[in-house]
Amino acid sequence: MKQVIVATKNKGKAKDFETIFNPLGYKVLTLHDVADDMDVEETGTSFEENAILKAEALAQRLQTFVIADDSGLSIDALNGAPGIYSARYAGEAKSDEANMEKVLTELTDIRDDKRTARFCCAIALAGPNMKTKTAFGTCEGIIAHDKKGTNGFGYDPIFFVPQLGKMMAELNPSEKAAISHRGNAIKIIAEDLPNLLK
Ligand code: IMP
Repeated sequence: MKQVIVATKNKGKAKDFETIFNPLGYKVLTLHDVADDMDVEETGTSFEENAILKAEALAQRLQTFVIADDSGLSIDALNGAPGIYSARYAGEAKSDEANMEKVLTELTDIRDDKRTARFCCAIALAGPNMKTKTAFGTCEGIIAHDKKGTNGFGYDPIFFVPQLGKMMAELNPSEKAAISHRGNAIKIIAEDLPNLLK
């Protein structure tokens, strides 16, 4: 089976990548498989910059083609927050539960039509002797008042997807992949993969 290396240790992201790549005939390897000690500091000021940082650091180390994802939730009523700080919005412990509680508390007085938000995902594809490529995907939604659903990860239980009438955490993996920010970004970058990944 062909392999795609993804510069992440996030189990939720890894599962999303598997849902998309396995049917295309790729096995997904993560940092746990190829560089367990690696921890790239996300010093960029945008999703794209951080995705490029992570992809290029791993590609340089392994001397092969890799992809990285930097993603997050952008809430209009919070001027785009948590944005690139989504993973650690409630602190360095990077707790999904604490992050969701913080968002719900901050939106307590915000009425339904002002709770618009979107998930964003930048994917970078880097490798030896190539200019790093990036792709960007989004998924529009509404922040709910309570958590619902047990699938997915991160902010999925508080993110309502109007086009499907369900919370992101109520979607099965393929339903999420079909409409998600990550799925949309990967669809763009996947056009380059067959030539690069063996
Ligand atoms: P990163 O590892 O710096 O890219 O942080 C990504 C963070 O954004 C995750 O830890 C989640 O909090 C959030 N996030 C990104 N994608 C998703 C998703 O598909 N569902 C829910 N939360 C997500």
